Amino acid sequence: MSLEPCPRVIIGGTLIDGTGRAPIKDSVIVVKDEWIIAVGRRDQVEIPPGAEMIDASEKTVLPGLIDAHVHFVGLGVRMIQNINLRETKTISEALEKVKTRISEVEKGVWILGRGWDDSKWEDRRYVTKYDLDPISPDNPVMLTRVCGHLVSINSKALEIAGITKDTPDPKGGEIDRTPEGEPTGVLKDASQLIRKHVPGVTDEMYVEGLKRASEYALSLGCTSIQEAGIGAPQMKAYQTALEMGYLKVRAYLMWTERNIEAMEALGLRTGFGNNMLRLGSAKMLVDGSIGARTAAFFEPYEDEPTNKGIVMIPEGELIKRVKAVHRMGSQVAIHAIGDYAIETTINAIEEAIRDSPRKDHRHRIEHCEVLTSTQIERIKQLGIVPSVQPNFAGEWSDPGGLYETRIGKKRLRQNNPYRYLLDEGIKLSFGSDGMPFNPIYGIWSAVNHWIRASRITLEEAVRGFTLDAAYASYEEDMKGSVEVGKLADITILEQDLTEIPSDEIRDVSVHMTLVGGKIMYYNE
Ligand SMILES: [Zn+2]
Repeated sequence: MSLEPCPRVIIGGTLIDGTGRAPIKDSVIVVKDEWIIAVGRRDQVEIPPGAEMIDASEKTVLPGLIDAHVHFVGLGVRMIQNINLRETKTISEALEKVKTRISEVEKGVWILGRGWDDSKWEDRRYVTKYDLDPISPDNPVMLTRVCGHLVSINSKALEIAGITKDTPDPKGGEIDRTPEGEPTGVLKDASQLIRKHVPGVTDEMYVEGLKRASEYALSLGCTSIQEAGIGAPQMKAYQTALEMGYLKVRAYLMWTERNIEAMEALGLRTGFGNNMLRLGSAKMLVDGSIGARTAAFFEPYEDEPTNKGIVMIPEGELIKRVKAVHRMGSQVAIHAIGDYAIETTINAIEEAIRDSPRKDHRHRIEHCEVLTSTQIERIKQLGIVPSVQPNFAGEWSDPGGLYETRIGKKRLRQNNPYRYLLDEGIKLSFGSDGMPFNPIYGIWSAVNHWIRASRITLEEAVRGFTLDAAYASYEEDMKGSVEVGKLADITILEQDLTEIPSDEIRDVSVHMTLVGGKIMYYNE
């Protein structure tokens, strides 16, 4: 008797292999240990004797999905800690949830909520202290908007943070006020004023959060994530979670760029690690979000004609900081959403490359949403990787929706222009930013882009969440496609995506998820 583990064969499914090639019907994939050892049509592949068979007929077989931008540990912690306000339809529905939580805890305990989106609320406005105070006289409350850039707090929280009429706006942010100057409880890119008063997350909560987030990821067919910017406590938690067997997906960890001196001192750079846990790029933020009107544009907001957004790092300083990361041999990942922020980001990357030429830098622009045609051309020339979130286009670029309201019709058409980017030969890396964390929904959003001219094919959308997401982390040689020699990270969907109308893609659920040849999720 042999002790060799027997090979696994996934048979009969429609394979969309991640490379962008046409789907293969009635496919066969042979997996041995953690690797893919054969792929093809049923008549092309020899099935090894004694193999364990997985029937995928009438299903879709994909490379394990990769979310190239998600705040994964934060997502896990929030699953433990926060009220989820994502699906609420009105302010009063959100307030009900807050009320319920308050009834469950002691006086004085912080009430945290997250995920509300005024553009999805019938009320179409931010929640303020005037809404919150009547239900929360004794507990401080902080509700974070879906974008993470705006928080609403109650009077108790304002009191704890010592925010009054006389408090000046912090650098790069704003305390929203009534005409009389009274704070309304809405803080725009100013949550640092309040966050330091919220009890911190413990090391155990981070580790537990990674466990919860891993299980959730596998249920969504996601086998790799790229963590979009963390510091020491979260880094430690990743290692601990891996050692404890809690981290079940592969992770690429972007580190907050302000830690550059420590990284340089230790000689650490992008790529350090192994197939499960790898050090990623230096993450920095140049602007905010369109929803909070803090993304930086050349022209003012359509619905606030005196406001062009907020620039968090002025161009001169950005150039200096990008050069420093580039010189140490690491990758930068720069959050830039408005056309102005994107322009300064491209300038900074261009300067850094000119300063010390390096092939294959793969510097990334995170979100990279509203682009001019000149910027698309420069992104191509410089080899920059746009790390975009198709679900943003899906959620907010509908006719009359949030983006049209904020930036008007002309710039709406320039948002997330995937077709143009791909036609230029640019590699597009797809992520979710956790809004919502669900690559299948992202694929649906890209294929059914509200701006027709920006739509891409199903195979291209899959490639964004697989091979090109792997490219963004320098891992395309080992994963991101179902090809011989790659890690056997494989996702099987309940239905054949090529046989259903494209608007139904978002309703398709995950049947099975394999990581390194092991079945990690199975939906009976
Ligand atoms: Zn993000």
